[in-house]
Amino acid sequence: MKYIIDNDMHIHSYLSSCSNDPEQSTEAILSFAEENGIKTLCLTDHFWDDSVPGASEWYKPQDFAHISRALPLPQAKGIRFLFGCEADLDKFRTLGLSKERISEFDFIVISTTHFHMKGFTLHDEEIKSPETRAKAWVERLDSVFAMDLPFHKISLAHLACRLIAPTREELLKTLSLIPEAELVRVFRKAAELGVAIELNSSDMNFEDCEADIILRPFRIAKQCGCKFCLGSDAHHPQQLSDALPRFSRAIDLLGLSENDKFVI
Ligand SMILES: [Zn+2]
Ligand SMILES: [Zn+2]
Repeated sequence: MKYIIDNDMHIHSYLSSCSNDPEQSTEAILSFAEENGIKTLCLTDHFWDDSVPGASEWYKPQDFAHISRALPLPQAKGIRFLFGCEADLDKFRTLGLSKERISEFDFIVISTTHFHMKGFTLHDEEIKSPETRAKAWVERLDSVFAMDLPFHKISLAHLACRLIAPTREELLKTLSLIPEAELVRVFRKAAELGVAIELNSSDMNFEDCEADIILRPFRIAKQCGCKFCLGSDAHHPQQLSDALPRFSRAIDLLGLSENDKFVI
């Protein structure tokens, strides 16, 4: 059976400073889920654990006291509204999430592709060219895989993210430069660990002529046995609904079935 769009595991509220939209409330998010057949959803505001040194100025206010203001989450019959976060990896490959804190979250989105955070997520030499960006893309995933984490409640966010490179052209070049053998290696590891691969709404908003390049990592992930979850990455209410046709197209192009679904 074809993959049913019944989950959204990457949603921001107004508590993410890049949203700051009073309309993006947990009540509004839950109403959207009720009206659109979303059975499992997760709130994932940007987070850097204050017990992990090294937060950037942007991340400092996104601590647990701040994002947990969303609790308790509203609930509705037949829907699971989970509490999670979007965690990041700095240039020293330190995850901004302590062992003690992990149990506070139902689910964790890990971003390895926020390449735009100059001086924080990557060393200057790592963003010199599409070649170095492609290498960093692989190495940052390897760093996550080497951590002792509960991968059964973790997803890898936006692996074809526009933030990987300053222009569309360079993004496509970067993704093309990741060797096939490396993709097979990392996604075999991902499948073995049971970490979810996210189909991110923004990543899936591509031109037809870009499909081969953007979808290549995801096709290989599928072949390697990875499981997929959906992520609108909505910061505003409109982005929750914009995601649905993009998910649908990506599911068709990748030929995803219910067997390919990540279940938490
Ligand atoms: Zn992100
Ligand atoms: Zn996000």
